[in-house]
Amino acid sequence: MMSDLTGRIAIVTGGSRGIGRAIAESLAQHGATILINYHSNATAAEEAAQAITSNGGKALIRQANVAIPEEAEKLIDFAKDELGKLDILVNNAGITRDNLIARMKLEDFDEVLDTNLRSAWIMSKVASRVMMRARWGRIINITSVSGIAGQAGQTNYSASKAGLIGLTKALAREVATRNVTVNAVAPGFIETDMTKELSEELVQTVTAQIPMGRWGSANEVAHAVTFLASEQASYITGCVLSVDGGMVMG
Ligand code: NAP
Repeated sequence: MMSDLTGRIAIVTGGSRGIGRAIAESLAQHGATILINYHSNATAAEEAAQAITSNGGKALIRQANVAIPEEAEKLIDFAKDELGKLDILVNNAGITRDNLIARMKLEDFDEVLDTNLRSAWIMSKVASRVMMRARWGRIINITSVSGIAGQAGQTNYSASKAGLIGLTKALAREVATRNVTVNAVAPGFIETDMTKELSEELVQTVTAQIPMGRWGSANEVAHAVTFLASEQASYITGCVLSVDGGMVMG
């Protein structure tokens, strides 16, 4: 099988809904055991795990607010202690608190940075130690077109996503000789709960900027992540793979 992940242990932060859930399902379909992390919606996490196990896959769920360093660290400890190792880390958990900078509160900046960026730094710090020792690992950070091109109303979110790209490249250099790769996937506009609140006007404006003329699905992002997690992607590190229908090129 292309992208055979049999025997691999993977953590997907925010793996209970949207893109994270599609990633968890895809990695499981290819043979990995998945630790699905969620923050507040236990029902969604149980449904995601159920979808995997009813397809013959292996999944566990674990509540943690990854914006809190101690809780993030415990997730890695759980994988290490209870599942024996950690091969794949997908830093996917993310939130938006959009507003023009004049109206944005400092709390909205801090909450988004802590949830989207600081969490990935903490998770990567602890996970990379385990992976380097094992001489194999995959860290995949879910960034965004917003972190590459910038988006009005998202000074906090764009900063967090651009920060994730810097983190990806710097860490890729630190761990490369130990056979641990670190990459980012940059989705464009994907149909999930995060984007369903956008106004019809904005949806039309955005869609007009996508060469492929349509939004993407969570599964289309999951395919890219699954490839980067596989043995086939062994010589790819420090890259930012856009999954955006051609929206941001170059
Ligand atoms: P979503 O549907 O809103 O799902 C977010 C997921 O993250 C949920 O599982 C949620 O768990 C979890 N989460 C939120 N805060 C958390 C925290 N503090 N600790 C642990 N888990 C937390 O979002 P999505 O659209 O799938 O987005 C997933 C990722 O892709 C995000 O990083 C987002 O920035 C990025 N992205 C999305 C798009 C898009 O168009 N949708 C485009 C580019 C990038 P609970 O439900 O339990 O809170």
